[in-house]
Amino acid sequence: MSGLRLGVDLDGVVADFNSGWIARYNRDFGAALDPAMVTTWNSPTVLTHFRDMGEFWAWARQGPASVFRDLPVYPEAVATLERLAVDHRVVVVSSNHEWAICDTLAWLGEQRVPAPEVHFVWDKPTVDCDVYLDDAPHNLEALAARRPEAVVCRMVQPWNAPLPGVRDVGSWVEFAALVADLAGQASQADLDGQASQADLDGQASQADLDGQASQAAPPARSHNGSPRR
Ligand SMILES: [Mg+2]
Repeated sequence: MSGLRLGVDLDGVVADFNSGWIARYNRDFGAALDPAMVTTWNSPTVLTHFRDMGEFWAWARQGPASVFRDLPVYPEAVATLERLAVDHRVVVVSSNHEWAICDTLAWLGEQRVPAPEVHFVWDKPTVDCDVYLDDAPHNLEALAARRPEAVVCRMVQPWNAPLPGVRDVGSWVEFAALVADLAGQASQADLDGQASQADLDGQASQADLDGQASQAAPPARSHNGSPRR
């Protein structure tokens, strides 16, 4: 089996973005927010004094490094990716602001995320993968609609909901089990394909033999009359 391409989102999947920004917010403003209070997409507009996400991002990028430089990782995320990377290709597919890319790359290196391919794109279906793991409702919807041949997985979080055509994954352990299952199916499909090809090859060889036999023995003459003059 050749490995599967695993398209893995970062924030809300590998990186605990909410714990990261909330720790920074509490420190900067003396607040007492808790990551468990995040239950909606774009929660900063609900939980903080920022009036919109523009104000939030302006604050989140301040300082020597942005909020993306020191996000905690979810338990088991990196260890699971390390195991998956043995047989598969881990492809990071992240939407990120340009100002955050250097911090995210530094973070990926520091956390030793085993990803030989990293894409920063807003339109995630443009990155070709066999399996996707994401938490953002709009990304899951787009991936399910435009990558119907792929397995699209929702990392279950309070800020997302089930979607048609999307597999729910409750933890990294569950994701690893799903990938193992898909890889087994892919291997079986490979074997079936090889068996079919062997059948075709066998049929082709037989046809060759039949052809050679025909060449060796000229077609029987018809006995329907006297020789032409
Ligand atoms: Mg995300």
